[in-house]
Order: sequence, then C-alpha cells, then structure tokens
Amino acid sequence: MHCRNKENKKMGPKGWFILKLLMFQGLFISHSQEQEDFDFFYLVLQWPGAYCDTKRSCCYPTSGKPAADFGIHGLWPNYKDGTYPSNCNPDSEFDKSQITDLVSSLKKTWPTLACPSNEGFKFWKHEWEKHGTCSESVMDQHEYFENSLKLRDRANLLQALTNSGIKPDDRFYDLEKIRKAIKDEIGFTPGIECNKDPERNDQLHQIYICVDTSGTEFIKCPILPRERCPSRLQFAKF
Ligand code: 5GP
Ligand code: 5GP
Repeated sequence: MHCRNKENKKMGPKGWFILKLLMFQGLFISHSQEQEDFDFFYLVLQWPGAYCDTKRSCCYPTSGKPAADFGIHGLWPNYKDGTYPSNCNPDSEFDKSQITDLVSSLKKTWPTLACPSNEGFKFWKHEWEKHGTCSESVMDQHEYFENSLKLRDRANLLQALTNSGIKPDDRFYDLEKIRKAIKDEIGFTPGIECNKDPERNDQLHQIYICVDTSGTEFIKCPILPRERCPSRLQFAKF
C-alpha cells in the first residue's frame, strides 16, 4: 500500500488558508505587543495640606515635613473610556537599585504622607506595581519615575495658583478660578478632586493632568475624572 506521512502530504487550498491565517495572526500579535496597551496617563498631584487635614490624619516621612507644595501621587495609565489597567506584571517588582540617582528628588517631590512614617519606598513600590507595570511597553522603572518627576516640575502648579492670587491660606476659592489658573499654565483643563476636613469643609485635594502615551507631553484630557467639588473650596494651609 502506498502511504505518505503527514509532513510530506501536499497542502491543499484549505491548508494554505489556515497557514496564511496563522501567519497573519502572528504578525498582528507581534505588532500589537509593540503598541501601548493604554490610551493616556493621568499625572496625579496631591496637596499635602488636604491629605493631612482629614479624620484619618497623616504621618510625615522619616526625612521630615515635606515642602508646602504639590507632591506626586502617581502617573497612571488610563483608557479613554475612563477605565484603567492595574497590576499588569507581577514579575516586574519594584527594584530600589534602579532608581538610586532619583531617590533624593523623590523624597522631595514624591513624599509619602501615609502612616506609619517611612522613607517613601513603600509608596513608590505601590505606584510602580499598581500603575507603572501597565506602561512598561513605553518606559522602564527608571523612566517611569524620572518622567513623573519632570512632569511634576513642568506643571508648576503652586506657582500657577499663586500667580492668580490663590494661596494655601485656609481661605475659600472659586473652583473655576483654580481650574483656569492651571489651564493658563499647562495649556489644558485639569481634573480637580476634593476631600473633606473633619469639619466637613471641601478642600482642594488632587489635580489630574493628562499626559500622552510617551509620558512626556501634556495633552487635552480624553476624559476627565468624575468631580465632586462644590463651586468654592478651601485651599488648606500646610
Ligand atoms: P479612589 O477610590 O481613592 O479615588 O482611588 C483609589 C485608587 O484607585 C487610586 O489611588 C488609584 O490607584 C486608583 N484609581 C482611582 N481612579 C483612577 C483612575 O481614574 N485612573 C487610574 N489609572 N487609577 C485610578
Ligand atoms: P492608590 O490610591 O494609588 O491605589 O494607592 C495609594 C496607596 O499608597 C495607599 O495604600 C496609601 O496608603 C499609600 N500611600 C502612601 N503614601 C501616600 C500618600 O502620600 N498619598 C496617598 N494618596 N497614598 C499614599
């Protein structure tokens, strides 16, 4: 009996179709892996006076009371429908040794205010593992922290507000004036988040600024976070 094994068998039209389909899929998969798996970043900056002036209170980092200025909360990859990825790569653990040159800047402008008091590595580890690992297609750990620091400096929020007469003096300011002062500085409308102090006053807590997928340029926000601020809010002393 004449018998051919599978490998030698000539491929018919159905075989060619399947082969082409597999090749196409292969191309598509390798291409999509090179692209970002998110649409933009939120650079989220926190006002320490508001973080500390709540029922929960706060603890200063071991290096002492941070400057009375906006600090970084995180650089968060986001989708334009408002949802977001998180904890994308359990194999990519936070590694202190990759950011030794940035630690002194991180201590100054990405200070932790959570209790118990600590140096800050816990906060940076949390932000890298929850958010940073979702933007590894565009930046590694060093770039994630370096870009965040550069963006925060560029936003120059406190100066922008002070230039418009908006100061952290426990007084109340118009939400729209705060928004305009920031827009005039960075070129785009920011998102503003409030929290409440123990007397239930609404305070300026966090500012959301949108950043392109390279993590270097401010952009118009594809979607702003849902806001619960009233029309006037307190800019707490720190
Ligand atoms: P909260 O519930 O306090 O607004 O947010 C808790 C945490 O969820 C944040 O610290 C952040 O890690 C994550 N989160 C909340 N809102 C967003 C968002 O709009 N985008 C991203 N990427 N993360 C968010
Ligand atoms: P996210 O809200 O980004 O998921 O997480 C914030 C986490 O980082 C919380 O577990 C919080 O306790 C911790 N954390 C440490 N320091 C700070 C800080 O200064 N601000 C905020 N918002 N969270 C901090």
